[in-house]
This record gives sequence, structure tokens and C-alpha cells, in this order.
Amino acid sequence: MRIRVGHLYPDYLNIYADRGNIAVFAQRAAWRRHELDVTAIGMEDAIVPGTHDLYYVGGGQDREQFLVAENLAAKAAPLIEAVHDGAALLAVCGGYQLLGRGYRGFHGEEMPGVGLLPLETVAGDTRMIGDVLLDTDLGPIAGFENHAGRTKLDPGAQPLGRVVSGFGNDGESGEEGCRLLRAIGTYLHGPLLPRNPRLADWLLAQALAHRTGGEPPVLAPLDDELEAQAQQVSAERARTRGGRSV
Ligand code: GLN
Repeated sequence: MRIRVGHLYPDYLNIYADRGNIAVFAQRAAWRRHELDVTAIGMEDAIVPGTHDLYYVGGGQDREQFLVAENLAAKAAPLIEAVHDGAALLAVCGGYQLLGRGYRGFHGEEMPGVGLLPLETVAGDTRMIGDVLLDTDLGPIAGFENHAGRTKLDPGAQPLGRVVSGFGNDGESGEEGCRLLRAIGTYLHGPLLPRNPRLADWLLAQALAHRTGGEPPVLAPLDDELEAQAQQVSAERARTRGGRSV
């Protein structure tokens, strides 16, 4: 099966090796004899619901976010339609913030959001930096966060997980990320997926379900020994050093 991935603004939203997440999708798909067909969706490109099974938005500094925010917000209607029609989506940090209703940057810049995820973000005057460990429905998830933005979920919104160590959405709610249908937004970089293969497989299975119109398939298990070790290292760092304000 060919899994069609739409990578939004790869030239702008690409810090902390977020592109490594795409490499993980491609390799884990290939090991199951699926093929990843990645197309960039840039400033000039339209989002056409039905043409991608999985959308990916990486992280960025306020400056890069500011450059794409309006363009992305203008694509809100087809992106929301695509996700409500069953496309999967992963958004990391800067991308996650822009999928909410809006982000006010460190210098007070007002950036419009897509309004897909039920949340809002405002930058505070300290950055929340360090390793993070989460407890989620998809098992433990570990990563690295570096954000000034404080994200508030609307009442009733579903977080990605509960913070075991680290800051999470705002450093006080105990929640991290947001889930809606087959979409996940999170602050976790690192990149996220090499050390969280279960999350990668969950997203791939959701993308395949969109492709076939059926249920998410059960993907053949892989030898994830190295990935498990990577997660343990990250989890241990989060336990000892995560969640300290800089
Ligand atoms: N510029 C945003 C913030 O500081 C996002 C940073 C990021 O993507 N790492 O909150």
C-alpha cells in the first residue's frame, strides 16, 4: 500500500531534527512492505482533502511560525475537513501550537491558528526546556521539550497524555499534547518517533485506515530493542532532570 504523506512547510518548520519523524514513518512502513509517498505542502500549495492519508507539521521558532501562520490559517477549512474525513495528523511543537486557535509569541506577535485542535497558546517569559516522560493510552512516551508557549486545552479536550516528568502543555495542568480523532499534537521533539515506535505505528495504522476506508490494520511487530533502549535513556533523563525552569 502507498501511504500518502503531506509534509506542511518543511522549509520553515523543521527544528530539532523533526524531519527524523518522517524517516521513521518511511522505514517502519517499508519494513511492512508499504511505501511512503511524501509530498511537501508549501506556501503555494493547496490542501485537497482525500489526497493525503497523513499530515505532518514540525516545530519552529516564533519567527518561522510567524512566516507561515497566516498561510496555514488560510488552509484551515480543507485541513479540518481532511482530519474529520479520517486523515491522520502529527504536529510537533510550533506546528502543534498553530493547529489550535492561535499563538501569541514571545514578543506579543498574534498568530492565527487553524482551529482544528481545541486549544490556545500564549508565550510566557521563561522557556520550558528538558526531557519529558508521559503516560498515555499508547504506553509511555518520551521526548524533549523546548517552548515558551503555554498551551491551554479547552475543558473536555483530550490530552495526548499525563506528564510523569517534565513541563507539558503549560507546566501546571499535568497534561501534555492533544488528541482529536486521528490527529495528535505534542511538544515532544527529539525527534519524537525514533524512541516512541508505538506512537509511530499507531499513526501509520490510522493512515492506512484512511487509505483503505477500513479499520486500522494490526501491523506486524518489529524488533524494537534499540528503540526501547532509546526510550529508556530519555525516560531516565526526564525522571532526573525534566521539568526544571530555565
Ligand atoms: N516558538 C514556539 C515556542 O517557543 C515553539 C518552539 C518549538 O517549536 N520548539 O513556544
